[in-house]
Amino acid sequence: MWGFFNNLKMMDDFEKLRCQMVETQILARGISDKKVIDAMLKIPREKFIEEKFYSQAYSDHPLPIGEGQTISQPFIVALMTELLNLTGNEKVLEIGTGSGYQTAILAELSKKVYTVERIPTLFKNAKNILAEMGYKNIFLFNLDGTEGLKEHSPFDRIILTAASDKIPQPLVEQLKESGKLIIPIGDRFSQELLVADKINGKLEIKNYGGVTFVPLIGKFGVSE
Ligand code: SAM
Repeated sequence: MWGFFNNLKMMDDFEKLRCQMVETQILARGISDKKVIDAMLKIPREKFIEEKFYSQAYSDHPLPIGEGQTISQPFIVALMTELLNLTGNEKVLEIGTGSGYQTAILAELSKKVYTVERIPTLFKNAKNILAEMGYKNIFLFNLDGTEGLKEHSPFDRIILTAASDKIPQPLVEQLKESGKLIIPIGDRFSQELLVADKINGKLEIKNYGGVTFVPLIGKFGVSE
């Protein structure tokens, strides 16, 4: 099925590691959306991390990106993206740009991605990398994402890559009818990954199990 894997000889080391990552961490754990798999095969994760972590670029865990923050584990990026059920036409709001890696994956699978990061250095790094990679459908903001982006709402999909004890109310209001929001909800140490579908103005929530994320710090999130 994945002819890609037959050409390992011709690839550089990062490409080989990327293929192995997809095979052993993504496909093996049941991710089946071909568009998500293709995006994970395409995006070079090493571009979003410091050189000193290059040997772990495709390892099965988060990595530090500075300021006490992390680039998420590849499987979690793939899982959250698959759960968004993107068709290619959506306007997506991402809260917690971090390194920009998840943002690039989302940009491959949707029409427009609005992404918000609260920490200025991370915002600037992500902005530079994503511009260098040539993305024209990503719009970055250095703000408190718990307030959303009212002027660009409503959104078809909202993804939060930081954890809170509640879903920020402005984001519920900025989610389109029939839209989907994904968020890790819990305390500082462990959370559950929730997917909320907005149906007749109300959220119908499904739980996809335990996860661990950094906190969503802001007016409608948690305090620092
Ligand atoms: N998905 C990202 C990646 O691939 O690199 C990882 C995101 S990291 C786990 C979570 C990010 O959320 C951090 O960069 C953190 O600064 C950011 N964050 C936390 N609270 C925020 C808020 N209120 N608004 C915007 N960003 C926030």
